[in-house]
Amino acid sequence: MFNINENYPYLTYKNNKLNLYNYDLFSQISGIETPFFIYLEKRFQENSRNLIQDLTKNIPNLFISYAIKANYLGRILHSAKKIGLGIEVMSLFELKLAQEAKFPGSDIIFNGPAKTKEELEYAIGKNIEHLNVDSMNELILIETIAKKNDIVQPITIRIHPELDAKTEKKMLIKKNSKLGIDHSRGVKLFEYAKKSVHLNPVGVHTHIGTNLTSHEFYEELLSFLDKYITKLEQKHDILINEVNLGGGLASKSVLDSKNFQIEKLGAQISSHISNIKEKTVIFEPGRYLIEDSFIAVTKVLRTKKSWGRKWVFSDIGANSLIPMRYNFYKVIPQEYKGKGQYTNIGGPLCLPVDVISEDAVDFEIEETDLLIILNCGAYTISMSEQFGYPRPAIYSFNQESKLELIKPADDIEKMVRESF
Ligand code: PLP
Repeated sequence: MFNINENYPYLTYKNNKLNLYNYDLFSQISGIETPFFIYLEKRFQENSRNLIQDLTKNIPNLFISYAIKANYLGRILHSAKKIGLGIEVMSLFELKLAQEAKFPGSDIIFNGPAKTKEELEYAIGKNIEHLNVDSMNELILIETIAKKNDIVQPITIRIHPELDAKTEKKMLIKKNSKLGIDHSRGVKLFEYAKKSVHLNPVGVHTHIGTNLTSHEFYEELLSFLDKYITKLEQKHDILINEVNLGGGLASKSVLDSKNFQIEKLGAQISSHISNIKEKTVIFEPGRYLIEDSFIAVTKVLRTKKSWGRKWVFSDIGANSLIPMRYNFYKVIPQEYKGKGQYTNIGGPLCLPVDVISEDAVDFEIEETDLLIILNCGAYTISMSEQFGYPRPAIYSFNQESKLELIKPADDIEKMVRESF
């Protein structure tokens, strides 16, 4: 019997065949061309609701905004809206997607280090309430637009916190990164905004990592933020209503496997941030909500042995599953045929980086077998490239336990035509 990790409760093996939500789906997909993705809407909903429920136990005012960049399929945006999440965007395209899904301006957060004048004019004109500022020049530009529109624009300022050198080293976004502004300079932006009659500095924002699984990191971050906010409030007389902790949480299944508890995170926040009742705590999760809400179905095209290793080549590659070192893909068999030799799994691309799983698997795999790739919902479809192959189709697994096509695969003939 194949042992599936308990952190994926929607997957089980029955008679050695993989079941999705107790349904033997994969034996019934012979008519569907591989590779393809499946969106597990139910998992996205569960992840969202769990996050809200566990955080609200300790945080009285909470605003969760789905980071659209992680995966911007309309279906996901509609689910997010229905659940009551806000949306975090980084460009006019993403802003328009959020509007198409009917998110009101009050539920949209606009981030990015180099928003254009046109983007800012558009956002301010549409009453986007959460404008997150990344530089002094951007702040001045927002002030000019707000003055022209005769409004007071609320803003938050993205700062890079001061952390222990060891913690800082582990973060994706470091002190010298292009994103955010150092916390001391950040104070100057707050002071400037406070003096302006067209700006209202309402909050502090920070986002410095992804795949975070450590309560110790939050301990450090929150204790810095509390001191920073207290200084802004007491020394500079700037009232901070919003504490935006950005995105960065690892996926639900990865956090479960590392024993990271969202409820404990909520307790950490409420014990560190002074006057928590008067503030709104904001999160902008992408990966946490969507990473394990997608699986990919792929067929084994070839097997080979070389240098004493067994390789199998699946029909999905790094052009769809971006091989970012922050992704935790996990490969499991559709049908378990017993223990086999340790095997590495690569995609079909003629590129050495096209390796899906760094950890070799130890189950028997033959040509034409189906493999299922877990944890592939974040930064895959939204970042995917054609790179020699059509991008795969996307299905959703609906309430009637059926696959519903939500986006067809790219058409090769069309791809050829568009290249001329
Ligand atoms: N917020 C901001 C400002 C980001 O830049 C990102 C990702 O790049 C996110 C939120 C989402 O991060 P994650 O998917 O790690 O939660």
